[in-house]
Amino acid sequence: MSACGSAGPRASTWLAGPGGSHHEAPRLETKPVDAAVVFRDWDLRPNVDMVLRALGADSGRAGKGSPAAVGLAEEAVTAGQGLLQPAVVAASCAVTGLRHQRLQLEGGGYLAGPLINEHLYGARSVVAAVCTIGPALETEASGWFARDPALSVALDALGSAAVDMLVAALCQRVGDEAVAEGLQTTMPLSPGLTGWPVATGQRQLFALVDASSAGVTLTGSYMMLPRKSASLVIGIGPQVDRGGEPCDYCSMAATCRYRQRRVSDHG
Ligand code: SF4
Repeated sequence: MSACGSAGPRASTWLAGPGGSHHEAPRLETKPVDAAVVFRDWDLRPNVDMVLRALGADSGRAGKGSPAAVGLAEEAVTAGQGLLQPAVVAASCAVTGLRHQRLQLEGGGYLAGPLINEHLYGARSVVAAVCTIGPALETEASGWFARDPALSVALDALGSAAVDMLVAALCQRVGDEAVAEGLQTTMPLSPGLTGWPVATGQRQLFALVDASSAGVTLTGSYMMLPRKSASLVIGIGPQVDRGGEPCDYCSMAATCRYRQRRVSDHG
């Protein structure tokens, strides 16, 4: 059972109503508390460039000068596309108060930590979500590891690219609805970013959404299974701003080849 209202990517339901008094914007519709709903209507089609980027390859150089890498990425796309089983379970929660870096939510849940305080202090509601592409692709990738390790790694990269796409698609939908209501959204905040430790963030997030309804569980070390999953929260309000990019708050930013590619690709 979701602690907050279920949130739908198609219906106008991402925006929970405020319950607190520290915001002045007009009251929005408050959704009923409901069982978590899983949305599976995502059309993910990662392309070869995305797979190459997830592999940490220089897409420009690989795309033109490394036929083997491109061929491998093409093979992964062909073999893996049909194995994507995208699902998002989400809850839209009204903010009822913020005190001592703890964002209190309607229904009794909360989010807390320096990252939460920095980005969500102006939020009137949040969308908490767990996204996954399901277990089929990683099962296939594992199955190829002994016979063709390169293809196995490429399939894994396809999964990473697909999860990235799913998170981006979710953020787009939430953002579009917010804009239609004259509101703004923050960047997606995930457990593990600086200021929101993995264990702390996962406990708080998984208390808000019934991730098991999308087939996602947590290990004792708070890793999600299937591995190709992501958990995140997005703040919504009249005065929140995007606040940068998740990479800006990632402890791996200095050495992450994927980030270096993104920075390079975008100047
Ligand atoms: S820097 Fe961190 S958040 Fe950014 S792509 Fe790398 S691992 Fe992901």
